[in-house]
Amino acid sequence: MGRAEIGIFGGSGFYSLLPDVEEIKVDTPYGPPSDRIALATVAGRRVAFLPRHGRDHQYPPHRIPYRANLWAMRSLGVTRIIGPCAAGSLQPAVQPGDFVFADQFVDRTSGRPDTFFEGPVTVHVSLADPYCPELRRRGVGLARELGITAHDGGTVVVIQGPRFSTRAESQWFSSLGWQVINMTQYPEVVLARELDMCYLNISLITDYDVGLAGREDIAPVTAEEVMRVFKANNARLRRLIMALIERLPAERGCDCGLTSTRGRFAD
Ligand SMILES: [Zn+2]
Repeated sequence: MGRAEIGIFGGSGFYSLLPDVEEIKVDTPYGPPSDRIALATVAGRRVAFLPRHGRDHQYPPHRIPYRANLWAMRSLGVTRIIGPCAAGSLQPAVQPGDFVFADQFVDRTSGRPDTFFEGPVTVHVSLADPYCPELRRRGVGLARELGITAHDGGTVVVIQGPRFSTRAESQWFSSLGWQVINMTQYPEVVLARELDMCYLNISLITDYDVGLAGREDIAPVTAEEVMRVFKANNARLRRLIMALIERLPAERGCDCGLTSTRGRFAD
């Protein structure tokens, strides 16, 4: 079984980036993950890559096998997860093309299996700060070095999907001051924490959610515009993640690994 230290969830555009990819099948107590996992060495670091929707995008957000995906990463030895995602903006100051490094989430999903602690062992994990502060600090710094507009922190509201929000819902989220809307951050980040892994979110802003409530001058963008921004984002995201991996210290300088699940994995 191959081993890795850094795990990446993302779109299939990443395969072409990784040199000498070895693809492996991993099974878990929660069934198979979304796809085979691609292992590669980047700047001397072992990296595992998994498209969270599957390579043919066959899993919609509410059907992604999140527990299997996180368990598979952890079973390979991964202690740090980089979880980029496409997202909509809820605030005028967060613009299409910007990257938001989330530091909080609000869960508006329902019915998703969202814990590894189904009894008899129960652990109440602290989620006050769900995202790794060390990875976020490094990510924001590198993004700015690369000329990317990076927001240091932000709240992502995670909706169940696959439908988008109504205008009323979107206005409600905006009025509460939340920055970003997405369908996959929950329970991905929670499950990473339950397994003692650091999690970095990079929300790639493709559009304004249903336009922006009360701003008639900002219309909902077209599908073509979303695709154009999405492609440009992907190229910049790849550069950012490569730089992040190159400069990441081997030892973690954060508290993400103190969840008390020690002993379940041999490392
Ligand atoms: Zn951490």
